[in-house]
Amino acid sequence: MPSDSARPFAILVTGGAGYIGSHAVLALLDAGWSVSVIDNLVTGFRQAVDSRARFHEGDIADAALVARIIAGDGIGAILHFAGSVVVPESVEKPLKYYRNNTANSRSLIESAVEGGVRHFIFSSTAATYGIPAEIPVREDMPTVPINPYGMSKLMTEAMLKDVAAAHPINYCALRYFNVAGADPDGRAGQSTAGATHLIKVAVGAALGKRAEVAIFGTDYATPDGTGVRDYIHVSDLADAHLHALDTLIARPDESHVMNCGYGRGFSVLEVLDSVDRITGGTVVRRMEPRRAGDPDALVADNSRILATTPWRPRLADLDTIVNHALAWERTSAKR
Ligand code: UDP
Repeated sequence: MPSDSARPFAILVTGGAGYIGSHAVLALLDAGWSVSVIDNLVTGFRQAVDSRARFHEGDIADAALVARIIAGDGIGAILHFAGSVVVPESVEKPLKYYRNNTANSRSLIESAVEGGVRHFIFSSTAATYGIPAEIPVREDMPTVPINPYGMSKLMTEAMLKDVAAAHPINYCALRYFNVAGADPDGRAGQSTAGATHLIKVAVGAALGKRAEVAIFGTDYATPDGTGVRDYIHVSDLADAHLHALDTLIARPDESHVMNCGYGRGFSVLEVLDSVDRITGGTVVRRMEPRRAGDPDALVADNSRILATTPWRPRLADLDTIVNHALAWERTSAKR
């Protein structure tokens, strides 16, 4: 069955019931694409998938299912978000990460090639860099992951590079920095059970869902001693996927690896100050030792995505990101 919109084909979003995937589904639908979602609902939520999308419950490693979706829904491009994302867990259970993120991606990429899919966008990560020698970090700097999560994603980037050289498919690996916030219209947000990410934790504390926020390390080589990260609004990130898709379609002989960040960092204390500023309250802070494997600072050089696509940050203000995260945390029943 061909795509039912004015677009030339439909898009398959893996992990479309998850945090970033559900925002990408909204962005695609809002832009007029027909969207199919495949998600095994292990960490995602069925209700996170907009009703305009076709939903298929199942696993990306189920090649027969993926083949049926590609043929049946008229899929011409895949946005691949499905995977495991908890860094400390990847240290405890590396084989889970090499299965979910690497082996299952291999199967999906094979299904894409066999099904004649022409474009592939992959959720990669700043964790592929490990501890960068220089900040801001550029895509051509060494990739030396310091945990299985980063390595499991880097291995998939390597597969895509080789596959794009051998088959009629091009790809874009987007290396996400710290993703936060929620849909400005309140249609989606982060519902992940047991989330550990700073902004999610901090807004939860501000709403009394937890007693305090632990600050993991105050002796980093940063202006205030706490870790510095490049927080990117999830809707800006979703928008980056739309532009990456347009770029892949317009230039089918080119593939890309691009950082997704704003090129500026905020410390843990600056994030907590932002939360306090917005709520008028005071989040209780507890100093704790460093978390294993945390770099001092991780900030993107985003000049490549700015030069390659028309994408521009629209929601880069930290207070805006925190405000949207807070609004979602207030209204969402599911956390
Ligand atoms: N962080 C913290 N307390 C928390 C969660 C995170 O101090 O409860 C710090 C963490 O050490 C890092 C930054 O906040 O410097 C961002 O961490 P997060 O887990 O959100 O993302 P990561 O950068 O590890 O992917």
